[in-house]
Amino acid sequence: MSQEPFLGTLFVVSAPSGAGKTSLVGAALEADRELTVSVSHTTRPMRPGEEDGVNYHFVTEQAFLELMGEGVFLEHAQVFDNYYGTSGRWVDEQLTAGRDVILEIDWQGAQQIRRLRTDAVSVFIVPPSRAALRERLVGRGQDSSEVIERRLREAAEECGHVAEYDYLVVNEDFERALQELLSVFRAQRQRIARQSKRHGELLAELSRADE
Ligand code: 5GP
Repeated sequence: MSQEPFLGTLFVVSAPSGAGKTSLVGAALEADRELTVSVSHTTRPMRPGEEDGVNYHFVTEQAFLELMGEGVFLEHAQVFDNYYGTSGRWVDEQLTAGRDVILEIDWQGAQQIRRLRTDAVSVFIVPPSRAALRERLVGRGQDSSEVIERRLREAAEECGHVAEYDYLVVNEDFERALQELLSVFRAQRQRIARQSKRHGELLAELSRADE
């Protein structure tokens, strides 16, 4: 698959549940209007406060499997007994239009994206300690202690893949973590591979030998 027409950068952001990934990505989107986030499809039930088409496209398992069969997903995975997937067409449209796209996906999806899109940039977000993670999961007040123990085991599994990522952000202080995340996104924009696509004419003009 050719990666040439894309003017934007594809970012993958993963984290163990409770690390603050969704809040950080939300704040990054507010701060930087060139960023956009992909809305995944999922078969998991909607949580209070969530909206269809905003947080996720909530679909039945049958609908998900049909979309999967039609090749709609750029990547997909099963996480916590539910299916999740990223629409390939939407992502490509955004990248072609020059927008940077963030995929908030798990390590399994990140592995698939790395194979398909070698120019994707991946960021892993971690909490400052295991105790802080437990505290955040308990503090949400959403889950039983059994579910929390399971989430901690799954967090350990997710963190086992950290070395596969390009960047690490430790979310101890939210504002600092946000600035670190933004600095990763912004630095990619200045890379020669990307700038030469955007400013090809300028660079050609400046390097002409005549006049
Ligand atoms: P949650 O159900 O708590 O919103 O998300 C559970 C996990 O699924 C998180 O690790 C989240 O990053 C991951 N996830 C959400 N959407 C996708 C997706 O489209 N693909 C993959 N592979 N993982 C996803």
